[in-house]
Amino acid sequence: MARAIVVDQDSCISCGLCVDNLPEVFRFDDNGKAVSFDSSGAPEEMIQTEAVDVCPVACIHWE
Ligand code: SF4
Repeated sequence: MARAIVVDQDSCISCGLCVDNLPEVFRFDDNGKAVSFDSSGAPEEMIQTEAVDVCPVACIHWE
């Protein structure tokens, strides 16, 4: 079963990196914080390298 990618919104600083890199996976919520809306919108490896690994506050993780 595929893993889900999750943003810890309490830690997100709204830098926009994940949203810019993978708009098919992440978007900004009404509160201005990033949220993942489609964990299968991109290959897991791409989500890892273009979001998880580059988030400046390391608040994106797999569940
Ligand atoms: S990269 Fe991290 S801090 Fe930046 S918007 Fe995405 S979740 Fe928030």
